[in-house]
Amino acid sequence: MENEISKDQDLFYIPPVGNESRNEPLWAEIILPLALPKTYTYTVPQHLQSKIKKGCRAEVVFGKNKKYAGMIRSFSKQKPAYETKDILNIIDDEPIIYPQQLLLWQWISEYYMCSEGEVMAAALPTHLKLSSETILIFNEEYGEDFSQLDNEEYLVAEALLIKKELRLYEVQQILDVNHVYPVIKKIVDKKVCFIWEAINEKYKDKKESYVILNPDYDNEEKLNELLNNWGKAPKQLELMLSYLHLLKTEGEVTQGALLKKSNATLAQLKGLAEKNILFIEKRSVDRIKTLPKKILIDFELSKAQQNAFDTINNIYAKKNVCLLHGITSSGKTQVYIKQIEFFLSLEKQVLYLLPEITLTAQIIRRLQKNFGGNIAIYHSKFNNNERVELWNKIKNGEIKIILGARSALFLPFKDLGLIIIDEEHDGSFKQQDPAPRYNARDAGIYYASLFNAKVLLGSATPSIESYYNAQVNKYGFVELNERFGGVQLPAIEIIDTRQVAASKKGKVMLSPQLKAAIKDAVSDDKQVILFQNRRGYSPFLLCGTCGFIPHCNNCDVTLTLHKYSNRLHCHYCGSSYPKLTTCPACGTVNWMEKNFGTEKIEEELGNEFPGYRIARMDIDSVRGKMAHDNLIQLFEQHRLDILAGTQMVVKGLDFEKVSLVGILDADGLLSFADFRSNERAFQLMEQVSGRAGRKSEQGKVMIQAAKINHPVLLFVQQHDYKKLYDFELENRKRFFYPPFSRLIRLILKHKIKEVVLEAADWLGDNLKKDLKDFIVGPAAPVINRVRNMYLMEMLVKLPKDAVMLQRYKKVISNHFNFLHAEKKFRSVILIADVDTM
Ligand code: ADP
Ligand code: ZN
Repeated sequence: MENEISKDQDLFYIPPVGNESRNEPLWAEIILPLALPKTYTYTVPQHLQSKIKKGCRAEVVFGKNKKYAGMIRSFSKQKPAYETKDILNIIDDEPIIYPQQLLLWQWISEYYMCSEGEVMAAALPTHLKLSSETILIFNEEYGEDFSQLDNEEYLVAEALLIKKELRLYEVQQILDVNHVYPVIKKIVDKKVCFIWEAINEKYKDKKESYVILNPDYDNEEKLNELLNNWGKAPKQLELMLSYLHLLKTEGEVTQGALLKKSNATLAQLKGLAEKNILFIEKRSVDRIKTLPKKILIDFELSKAQQNAFDTINNIYAKKNVCLLHGITSSGKTQVYIKQIEFFLSLEKQVLYLLPEITLTAQIIRRLQKNFGGNIAIYHSKFNNNERVELWNKIKNGEIKIILGARSALFLPFKDLGLIIIDEEHDGSFKQQDPAPRYNARDAGIYYASLFNAKVLLGSATPSIESYYNAQVNKYGFVELNERFGGVQLPAIEIIDTRQVAASKKGKVMLSPQLKAAIKDAVSDDKQVILFQNRRGYSPFLLCGTCGFIPHCNNCDVTLTLHKYSNRLHCHYCGSSYPKLTTCPACGTVNWMEKNFGTEKIEEELGNEFPGYRIARMDIDSVRGKMAHDNLIQLFEQHRLDILAGTQMVVKGLDFEKVSLVGILDADGLLSFADFRSNERAFQLMEQVSGRAGRKSEQGKVMIQAAKINHPVLLFVQQHDYKKLYDFELENRKRFFYPPFSRLIRLILKHKIKEVVLEAADWLGDNLKKDLKDFIVGPAAPVINRVRNMYLMEMLVKLPKDAVMLQRYKKVISNHFNFLHAEKKFRSVILIADVDTM
């Protein structure tokens, strides 16, 4: 790829102007962490010319008098055609990112049709976006309509509208509470304002005194000699022995820990320092608990796994990307571990990406067991200090392996060798809102190419796109067709709910067959997982007299009854309403609960299986920071018998004693009006099936369905991914969907229905002049109003030619601008979602 930013890291660090040519004027392109359409040019004043480097942050004024820490992106000696302001200051002595990150930002912004500022805002930890005092800046583009804000948000927004800027303490006064961050986060998410953070570094690393052994004694012989001829000072000897013990067990020794363990005084320790046996050094501490940096690979690959491992390495001689299609419990993780070991031996860094929800203590423990302190976790739950610390350690190469979700892609790797993307098919690698709407898998492949690094995609149910890329030889391809230990994949039984429904009213929740199987399993001391893709108690209520269905006031969505709150909830905007007694339409009291969610299943299980330990896993039951992990651990330790849950129970967990899995409503999974619905239904069912019978005996899966002849059900029953793929590929080809085309979803939003309809027509008509047959729509989506905004959509199906794609995207952006230039459409929100899921 041609690019103006030099990939050469040395050049990157050299200021563009040496001392000799000081008098030449110089300009810098700066990325501001805002949703601005482009970068901005600033003058580099004489006194900063020898200090300025790409990848450093600069303090600049933008607009009338707003200050930002912007990222220096490139330089020019050509005078721009307009007046430019001076850079006020350079914040960093050394670049905080490498050229590869700047290239990644640029690529994401071009490919996913957003600004580099939006990528920067997503990529940098908040503390690197910095301000001496956090300031909220009103977003003029938001306008004055605050009808979508709750009370607290409204109060802040109103003050912002008047004052334009607010400091944190002012927000505190307005709200009269201490916890203003959540409110700020919400109004920032809603783009009511921007956060402007410190210009002087808020992040201070915490220092601690470490005790280090004089390297002269770093060999057995010398050390023994020292200890054997110690002479006087027995207290110092005791201290010394404590030190050696701690070193062995902890890997590092802090002054505090040593004094505590040896019961010695600081003076005694200083005595040893004076004798030059131990050194005391003040260093920054990891706020994340560090383990010893040991690598311990205490297992052997099976023959099939070893084959896969070797094949992957052979592929890497020719290709950069390899897809590992391994059935559930085939030991993909073990293959990853060996791959990581290999790249570590080459002194390379490894990024291990997985969907946020699978980033559980289970996988962390598995990897820490093998890699100790060489591995670090990058998690959205970490606070900003921890993130900045990790950021720095990755940047200086101290940390070799990072395990993280989507956003770990933005970390400043120094020398990346391998990216593993586990569960590569998972939709959560794609960011929905806000921009950048990137897919970490695809952006990861680009990022890796900048380091000449390898990418390993792994899944039991690959995305159709990745499998296709493997089939056409764009990616290398490796299969693992047997489970580790030779256990068979579970036997799958499909239960025809129509037979059951005839005798019962409404939707079947637990058929007699499934109940019997659960009974068998739990009485045999085995565990059961039940999967239902709806949370809450009852997904909607229906008035049995007049047919009225309660809907959300802000969204075109039916309300779900939740038992825990005894309220009706909207799953789209989060608002809730008291439970209705009489029907507002006809006044009778005759509610029928339609369909069932996880809460109802939990209740029913309690009635059916008294005395057994039952739990529910969905986002309502795992709201706390650790709740998810705790639940998994309880289940893992067999302190639960039955676990019922949503998608959360599907993902990549490895349990030993699960003999039965129940999929309660397959029809619900197969009925989405979306071209990916077959693919997604197969993935969910095959993945959740994969939780059964992993270790010893073959497991069993029961799928309840009314459409028992649906082809996807049969593919699941045969565990035949390839058939699903062939079937889907045919459909995709016929309707020109990915992998045969590239999809861009265009979304228009406005609070007035007529405006959004008119804008969609206008945009559709104009786009069709340039993109003709590629445009599908405009049409209202199934849910056409969310949070009081009316929605319209268009789908652009483009041929897969990279050059043409870039041109078409440009056309679309231009039409977005033209639309916004029309006065009546100025407040229409426009979104382009490239490679929409
Ligand atoms: P997958 O990720 O493909 O679903 P896992 O990597 O979780 O499979 O492996 C399934 C189980 O088998 C795990 O408990 C894992 O520890 C075990 N296992 C797989 N391969 C090996 C191996 N070579 N040696 C020891 N245990 C293994
Ligand atoms: Zn709603």
